Amino acid sequence: MHELSIAEAILDLARKSVPRGGTLRSVRMTSGPMRGIDTQCMQLAWQAMGQRDVTLRLTLLPWQMLCADCGRLWQQPELAERCACGSTRVRPIGGDELRLVSIEVDDAEEERSPSCMYTLSKTS
Ligand SMILES: [Zn+2]
Repeated sequence: MHELSIAEAILDLARKSVPRGGTLRSVRMTSGPMRGIDTQCMQLAWQAMGQRDVTLRLTLLPWQMLCADCGRLWQQPELAERCACGSTRVRPIGGDELRLVSIEVDDAEEERSPSCMYTLSKTS
């Protein structure tokens, strides 16, 4: 269950971004399709850490596809095998993103962006 280690890393990073005296209320993160993260597993992992007061908002990103023949770049929820131009020389771009987008803190009542983008090392 790799969701648990991801949840721990995200929570750890989010806590470090909370200003002094503030209370973490929610964490917004995005995950690329190559990560294979299951939304339900992620919520279960989040609850398993005892985070009842912190809401996890996970957005699964679509595949980003590139056509080698016409150069078209598009997004869709499933891996594409064919471009609109008829070419089958299509390939996904990226897809392994894992990002803490923002956090909500009770005290300041404003969203803060983390000072750094966080990318976890690839796990098989
Ligand atoms: Zn094309």
